[in-house]
Amino acid sequence: MTTLHIDWTRCQGRGGCVELLPELIGRDEWGYPLTGTDVAVPRALHGHARQAVRDCPRLALRLEQGRDTP
Ligand code: SF4
Repeated sequence: MTTLHIDWTRCQGRGGCVELLPELIGRDEWGYPLTGTDVAVPRALHGHARQAVRDCPRLALRLEQGRDTP
């Protein structure tokens, strides 16, 4: 399983990942992603998840293979 990991120490709530992956990530009232630290990414959304990793201005996202979400 592919998971999207969010490093909360880096995220500043710019919201780009929320716009790319609205099926997986909501937005809280301050603009921060509303999700857990590790988000399971369905195969159909791998492309958008890779783009979110590339576009995150804070380098707060990474994709991990083979980890089960807690
Ligand atoms: S794109 Fe990066 S900085 Fe912006 S909300 Fe998502 S994880 Fe945080």
